Amino acid sequence: MKHAFLAKSSSGNPYDVTFEVIGGRMVVHCTCKAGEMNQQCKHKRALSFGDAEMLMDKSQTQALKDLLAMSVANDLMARLRIEEEALTVLETEKNRLAAQEKAIKRRIADIFTGKA
Ligand SMILES: [Zn+2]
Repeated sequence: MKHAFLAKSSSGNPYDVTFEVIGGRMVVHCTCKAGEMNQQCKHKRALSFGDAEMLMDKSQTQALKDLLAMSVANDLMARLRIEEEALTVLETEKNRLAAQEKAIKRRIADIFTGKA
């Protein structure tokens, strides 16, 4: 059974975000450009975490709440949170490495100019 929601879009034409339980897992699809390529998108993310602000049609708020009360939806959210936390750790590390790279390049430049 598919659960369909209308998500806001910047163009004004809403996207269809559908939730479906397949093989015991909640699968989410969106008709935006990224979604059609089976990539992550803000619409899938927002509705998966129950952000009713993303709903084009506010009368779907309760249906979204009911859907997300299902244990498969909790599983989906838990798995998304784990991956998002991993991304946050990765971003922090990337920033740290970028700062380190910049410092090394600065020292190399200083060697060339005789400052070091
Ligand atoms: Zn989307």
